[in-house]
Amino acid sequence: MTIEIKNKIVGYEVAKKDAEVSDKKTQETENKKEAVATAEIIQMHEKLERPDMLLGSTYKIKTPQSEHALYITINDVLLNQGTEHELRRPYEIFINSKNMDHFQWIVALTRIISAVFRKGGDATFLVDELRSVFDPRGGYFKKGGKYKPSLVCEIGDAIECHMKMIGMIKDNGLDDSQKQMLDAKRKEYEAINCKDIGASNNVAVDETSSNQTSDFPPNAMLCKKCSTKAVISMDGCMTCLSCGDSKCG
Ligand SMILES: [Zn+2]
Repeated sequence: MTIEIKNKIVGYEVAKKDAEVSDKKTQETENKKEAVATAEIIQMHEKLERPDMLLGSTYKIKTPQSEHALYITINDVLLNQGTEHELRRPYEIFINSKNMDHFQWIVALTRIISAVFRKGGDATFLVDELRSVFDPRGGYFKKGGKYKPSLVCEIGDAIECHMKMIGMIKDNGLDDSQKQMLDAKRKEYEAINCKDIGASNNVAVDETSSNQTSDFPPNAMLCKKCSTKAVISMDGCMTCLSCGDSKCG
């Protein structure tokens, strides 16, 4: 682009060039600052050196299949501690039990899970993988009427519980209004049910419910969505009192 100068030149300055240079400089320093900031954010990776101290949680699993409980310990590493990018990520898992039946498999599993944790990235897939394992000898019901297809599934539950605690998995639990609605439904159902059974049977019902330690009506059916014996039939609808899943007709 050419500019025709019609008037006399009375003076000049190279302000534009200076401005350009300083602009460039500030941009460069800003870029550098950004680069430094991103470089400083430490993500989980294999070569991360294990700190001498890790924070951990231990989860107890008691199954009817063994008299000895299983203790799952998950230790976390704190990344970028004290900064806005602070992250708590699982670093290793240990499983201890007096029961030595499955010892070699459990050691192998914990080593592989720990390796996946240390690889970094999204390790939440482990939960679904472990939970979908079923024991060919059959599963069992836990306190509260929840069906567990295997011990491995319970290890998955413990990892999920831990990942929820440290914020890696969002807790999609029921909100208060949903809980209230289910509670009301349950009371309504129990009122109808108790009338049918009659007063003499009430004691027996209480006994079985405490023996089976179910939180839901004793004749509730198994929910396909949450694997809990909590589905009741009322007003032509099948409703799960645990997860709220409902089907009518
Ligand atoms: Zn359910």
